[in-house]
Amino acid sequence: MNSMAAFQDPELCRGLLERLKSLIRACARPVRFMEVCGTHTVSIFQSGLRSLLPEGLTHLSGPGCPVCVTHDAEVAAMLNLARHDTVILATFGDLLRVPGPDGKSLKHAQAEGARVRVVYSPLDAVKLAAEHPHATVVFPGVGFETTAPGVAGAVLAAYKQRLGNFCILPFHKLVPPALRALLEKAPQEQGKGIDAFLLPGHVAVVLGVAPFRFVAEEFGRPAVIGGFEPADILSALCAMVSQIAEGRALAVNAYRRVVADEGNPAARSAMDMVFMPGEARWRGLGLIPASGLELRPEFEEFDALRRFGISLGETGSIPGCRCGDVLSGLLTPGECPLFGKSCTPQNPTGPCMVSTEGSCAAWYRYQGT
Ligand code: SF4
Repeated sequence: MNSMAAFQDPELCRGLLERLKSLIRACARPVRFMEVCGTHTVSIFQSGLRSLLPEGLTHLSGPGCPVCVTHDAEVAAMLNLARHDTVILATFGDLLRVPGPDGKSLKHAQAEGARVRVVYSPLDAVKLAAEHPHATVVFPGVGFETTAPGVAGAVLAAYKQRLGNFCILPFHKLVPPALRALLEKAPQEQGKGIDAFLLPGHVAVVLGVAPFRFVAEEFGRPAVIGGFEPADILSALCAMVSQIAEGRALAVNAYRRVVADEGNPAARSAMDMVFMPGEARWRGLGLIPASGLELRPEFEEFDALRRFGISLGETGSIPGCRCGDVLSGLLTPGECPLFGKSCTPQNPTGPCMVSTEGSCAAWYRYQGT
């Protein structure tokens, strides 16, 4: 059995599930946990774990899908730039179908003649800029601490090559400030708020444990870093629920085969060299201080917002779409009036149905309407 298969082993999972059931009984109260990672969302549904969770343990899917948390104003800025005559917008494919406030996406803009190119890494966008000296190549930097070091590397590469026609849209989001905002916003009554976090394994690979300690120390909620195989998730849930049963709250690394407690200092230092924390707009959570990444003054020439004089003002939002409430854990996808009716993966209304990591798409695909 290879190492990955070991974490999918049915016997191991059955044992962990039994342990989870007895821990939930020991809690003597319902527990609501939130994951904040698109890979966890998909894995929990795809493996069938969601339907096996014991009564009294509720799964909430939070703002973990990079495309979904990208704010309407940011999507509108991408669309406006893509339509600019001198611009080539170089993007990861998952942004192509995300609708802007007017319902149109980069895919529509591309069909109307905009130069939108799909790239597989931020460095591909730098290469594109070198190959097209008469255009400005703009790369939308979206996602979390997982993608930011790669985008920082692309900015450094363009800086070294003195490429004046490459820039980025600095739309990255930082997970720890979002957890704080979620805890401050969540209802405090028992059975309505967030009792614990299943922390994102990929983000923790970069950050380590320390940036998540405030969840336990200031808010008294367990926070457990978990992997993505069924046994990883069940182990993390056991570590979380046992704390609640014992009246404790700690930040715990339950994904040690991949995540070092200190994270990845080299990735953080690449990120820190190019970016500094700044205010960011999140779909559903609004403006959160120090939850995004701005370019440092020495790299501001690579800021597309600055170069094209764009300010992210108020924009409309997609009519009827409740993605913001879904991402905040205030609504389940099935409770959105559009779910499975006018909004389906084939004909998505909001980003949570567009992205394969979106909660609405996962609900639709694995649970049906
Ligand atoms: Fe948004 Fe569609 Fe999900 Fe409703 S079902 S929240 S419209 S993505």
